[in-house]
Amino acid sequence: MNIRNIAIIAHVDHGKTTLVDKLLQQSGTYRDNQRQVERAMDSNDLERERGITILAKCTSVVWDDTHINIVDTPGHADFGGEVERILSMVDGVIVLVDAAEGPMPQTKFVVGKALKLGLKPIVAINKVDRSDARVTEVVNEVFDLFAALDATDEQLDFPILYGSGKNGWMSDKPDGSHEDGMRPLFELVMKHVPSPSVEEGPFRLLGTILEANPYLGRIITGRIASGTVKPNQTVKVLSRDGKLVESGRISKILAFRGLERVPLDIAEAGDIVAIAGLTKGTVADTFCDPSVDTPIQAQPIDPPTVSMS
Ligand code: GDP
Repeated sequence: MNIRNIAIIAHVDHGKTTLVDKLLQQSGTYRDNQRQVERAMDSNDLERERGITILAKCTSVVWDDTHINIVDTPGHADFGGEVERILSMVDGVIVLVDAAEGPMPQTKFVVGKALKLGLKPIVAINKVDRSDARVTEVVNEVFDLFAALDATDEQLDFPILYGSGKNGWMSDKPDGSHEDGMRPLFELVMKHVPSPSVEEGPFRLLGTILEANPYLGRIITGRIASGTVKPNQTVKVLSRDGKLVESGRISKILAFRGLERVPLDIAEAGDIVAIAGLTKGTVADTFCDPSVDTPIQAQPIDPPTVSMS
């Protein structure tokens, strides 16, 4: 299975939800899942049994036989280490900026983390249909922001798309000439964002998002760093310092598919999945095969200020 893992970083109201909706629609993912959601809502019991209620605000769209997982990032510094952990699940970010408002200070924090993690940004100037759009200026503001956040030359050489999520298009031309729906965005993600790097070895996943679900219990979401995992498999949980937190059986594996999560019979390295069945393991713990002794190095809560280059 081909996978791309990305995050969209956007200030509130700059159009993230609308954009993701169009990506779902134009990839054909939306219609299938929409039917499933409607069906599920016909029967709450069925929905509960399958555990497919929408949990974290993550989405997956299928394009060209590739699952593009889109994870949501908390937009605020209050989330501390969580932003780093979430961003360390992805291999690329789309920085979505309103063509009239320009980059907002609130997104600086998350953009800064993404750049520090070495992610190569794609910049999407959104809402170019606004009469007060000031596209050239906003591109310069984004460049200045990245430079102020110590972006590398490679990161400053970002590809730019211009478009209108609302009207369902993104183009590499500011005037939207040769407009072809969301295809340019999909193609840029496929080209610019590497597939997830996976390591050899047995199953390992770094716990990244913790949720409580009334029917499935504790749910941990993370990216599978190595190996594969199946329901009923026995796993252990290691804390950051390598201590055994618990051993237990995975009851369910859920993957993002469209707007909901679907149960999987097997999940592979590189994919972002949610697992249920463990009772103590938490964020920053490593969920792994019993043969593993070394936890995955989580991003530190307070990143060192020394240069990592
Ligand atoms: P989010 O908070 O980033 O998820 O933003 P939303 O997707 O909810 O959009 C915020 C507002 O901007 C809504 O009123 C949208 O209809 C509007 N909007 C989204 N995309 C566009 C666009 O391309 N052009 C214009 N003019 N408005 C847009």
